[in-house]
Amino acid sequence: MATIRCPICEKQFDPAQSPAMPFCSERCRQIDLGRWLRETYSVPVERNPDEAGAGDEAARPDETKP
Ligand SMILES: [Zn+2]
Repeated sequence: MATIRCPICEKQFDPAQSPAMPFCSERCRQIDLGRWLRETYSVPVERNPDEAGAGDEAARPDETKP
């Protein structure tokens, strides 16, 4: 009986026993799906310069105190 390696967790498993080929489990299949979706929809995140951002905290040091 041959085993294959899960591309997510790299665990050796029997493909005949897996409910989520080519992954060892449904959980690993979901992890792979999540990664794939994230790459597909990945958009370069740019900070909006009009929003309060870097440097704003330094300009108002007293606001961080209780
Ligand atoms: Zn796995």
